[in-house]
Amino acid sequence: VKVYFAVFTDTNKKPEGIIVVLHDDTEQQKLDSMRREFVANVSHELRTPITSIKSYTETLLEGAMEDQETSKRFLCVIDSEADRMTRLVKDLLQLSRLDNQQMNWKMECVSLDTIVKTIVERLQIEAQRKHQKLDSYVIGDIPAISADKDRMEQVIVNLISNSIKYTSEYGEITVYVGIIYNDIYVKVTDTGIGIPSESLPRVFERFYRVDKARSRDMGGTGLGLSIAKEIVQAHGGTINISSEIGKGTEVTVKLPREV
Ligand code: ADP
Repeated sequence: VKVYFAVFTDTNKKPEGIIVVLHDDTEQQKLDSMRREFVANVSHELRTPITSIKSYTETLLEGAMEDQETSKRFLCVIDSEADRMTRLVKDLLQLSRLDNQQMNWKMECVSLDTIVKTIVERLQIEAQRKHQKLDSYVIGDIPAISADKDRMEQVIVNLISNSIKYTSEYGEITVYVGIIYNDIYVKVTDTGIGIPSESLPRVFERFYRVDKARSRDMGGTGLGLSIAKEIVQAHGGTINISSEIGKGTEVTVKLPREV
């Protein structure tokens, strides 16, 4: 808290009054420090792939290029690091548009059950690669809602992809769509590694990851859930997560149904 004060005097320099201003700037300081942390995170996340691209390129130029096998392997790394940077920049641009209310929402009549079924079908290949069981269940008649279809798909793809990523082989991922009171819910459950309880409140923070190395290996940017939360909130909905370490995770999105 900052304190400012001024003393008023009359023409004879005799004190007449005092003004004291108390300025509580804790909120501002918190925002400033969050902004600083965000910039530091972005720099770090961009520097990591650049360092990697640079060192593989240098090694190739220094002679590793002679060997075709090595060249191919190194070029694959460079290619995937460049992909990571593209994903990161794409996510950052979307976050910035969300922050500045510059999203161009295309609202239309959307049926969440159809979206979920389509996405579950599309992600089967990925799940099967890990011998995982991926199913969806629709409970009841789901009324259509007004939403941005592409953005809703993005949220659901993100949640199911997370479940696939953070669940080991032969695990199970189940998606439910149903109605609860005035909301339509989409619940994604998995039998994965789970999230420690102290980390749970932080997973929607930008760049927060329980296990940085694991997330990076899986190609994650650490921004998926924070973007999902912004999108859901912009639709007047909520997103919640519950988890038990070693047992699994459950993420529930609720969106208001039209009345
Ligand atoms: P990332 O790109 O790292 O996956 P997200 O924002 O999507 O970033 O998720 C943030 C973190 O939350 C992840 O790094 C992971 O630690 C944790 N997480 C998200 N979904 C799950 C899940 N289904 N099971 C276990 N951990 C998860």
